[in-house]
Amino acid sequence: MPPSPSPRKAVSKPRSHAKPTRRRSSDKPVSVVTGGAGFLGSHLVDLLLARGHRVTVIDNLITGSTDNIQHLAGNPDFRFIKQDVTEYLYLDGPVDFLWHFASPASPIDYLELPIQTLKVGSLGTHKALGLAMTKGARFLITSTSEVYGDPLVHPQTEAYWGNVNPVGPRGCYDESKRFAEALTMAYHREHGVDTRIVRIFNTYGPRMRVEDGRVVPAFVSQALRGKPITVFGDGTQTRSFCFASDLIEGIYRLMMCTGATASDPCNIGNPHELTMLQFAQEIIKATGSKSRIIHKPLPQDDPKQRRPDITRARKLLGWEPAIPLADGLVPTIAYFRSKITR
Ligand code: UDP
Repeated sequence: MPPSPSPRKAVSKPRSHAKPTRRRSSDKPVSVVTGGAGFLGSHLVDLLLARGHRVTVIDNLITGSTDNIQHLAGNPDFRFIKQDVTEYLYLDGPVDFLWHFASPASPIDYLELPIQTLKVGSLGTHKALGLAMTKGARFLITSTSEVYGDPLVHPQTEAYWGNVNPVGPRGCYDESKRFAEALTMAYHREHGVDTRIVRIFNTYGPRMRVEDGRVVPAFVSQALRGKPITVFGDGTQTRSFCFASDLIEGIYRLMMCTGATASDPCNIGNPHELTMLQFAQEIIKATGSKSRIIHKPLPQDDPKQRRPDITRARKLLGWEPAIPLADGLVPTIAYFRSKITR
């Protein structure tokens, strides 16, 4: 079903620039997913196609891969455009939902690609919002728990403004996402674009890149190869891991929800928190590995604790994660095993 027009918040100016493209009511909803060849973007694309959307993916493949979408080749409802979303975006025809997922997201990636990271959060978000406005589409930006920086409030609620070092090594990611949120709210208030902001906490599952440097691929690949598990610092820093399908369901519900507060930021993540030392032990147990744990220096500005407060998601979306870590690790480990032994 095409989306029903959503009630809009009172905005400071009339929605003069948005010109929804006329379409037949029998048409399938049309989604555009930037970064749709990435880990999370590609899981979203699968869900959208399963729920009857026509989907266009725009991705420049700097961290995404066609491996994640190759199973969709030949699907008449799917199309892939290789393009950098920081450049002008033009698409023919109607668009109902624009999901802006494009961005490097692992600390190693954004340390290697700081300028591209800042550009996709700023220029890329600008282009994506412009396209959404032109098409009269609803727009969702994937923000991050990194907007809270090294948080002084725990667990993190959406009302917390964060503790970010703008000039540290993670600043390129944190500030690009904070800018993206600000730009999204500006388009919402100034142009009346119907927007959603999701703050994604640590997520894991199949299609993460083996070498992307994040803790899940790092620990699982080390365990499967029988190599030492590299815990950074003393391992007392915490994270809370959400399985990919849980996360994508929450994001889908956020996009589809309506109401006066729908455009406010919403945390999506799993509140089950554990230290990195505990997590290393979980991975050793789940893989049956004989790897030992070693310690390496803690990277600069590594957040000491992170856990989402998901009260808002529970109330607004009726959502909470359903998959415990032990269950989510089974397909995740199977995926890495298939990649490592290939
Ligand atoms: N980490 C670790 N060993 C690794 C990779 C990461 O101990 O080989 C730690 C890292 O210092 C951080 C946590 O695991 O405290 C999560 O790191 P990740 O890179 O997955 O993402 P972050 O949550 O920091 O964005």
